[in-house]
Amino acid sequence: MIQVDPRDFTPDALRKVAPACGECTGQGASVVELVGGSVVYPHRPDLWQKDGVDRWWWRCENCGAYVGTHTGTINPLGTPCGPETRRAREAAHAAFDPMWRKRMELSGLKQSVARGRGYKWLAKQMGLTRKDCHIGMMSAEQAWRVVEICRAREAA
Ligand SMILES: [Zn+2]
Repeated sequence: MIQVDPRDFTPDALRKVAPACGECTGQGASVVELVGGSVVYPHRPDLWQKDGVDRWWWRCENCGAYVGTHTGTINPLGTPCGPETRRAREAAHAAFDPMWRKRMELSGLKQSVARGRGYKWLAKQMGLTRKDCHIGMMSAEQAWRVVEICRAREAA
């Protein structure tokens, strides 16, 4: 695993990867900065690293919304969000992920293929393009709709 240090990147390079804040949309430009776990989870040092590698979060200076990064990179997992949106996105993952995982187990599909098909189905239900359909980028309202859609499917 590579140890990523944001100081190795030029401000321009960082700006290119920085996600726009999901909570400050339409309220002018938000400044999103890369921070370590001590900023986001000051009382949870156990979350600051994964497999011995520092983890990074993109955090909005304006409202404090944040989002994690793909392990070993500074690529955001989605858009920074606040507690309410985070709860909704977690609920959406909890409802959606078991569906495509179950398909994966039954069909022997690779994880990427099974998840891709799951998202394709979800995008259609949500009226989004596949490219725009990422739980990590959803508003609280959209994420709760994912929960409803998945529950309805499970009950069918
Ligand atoms: Zn913000």
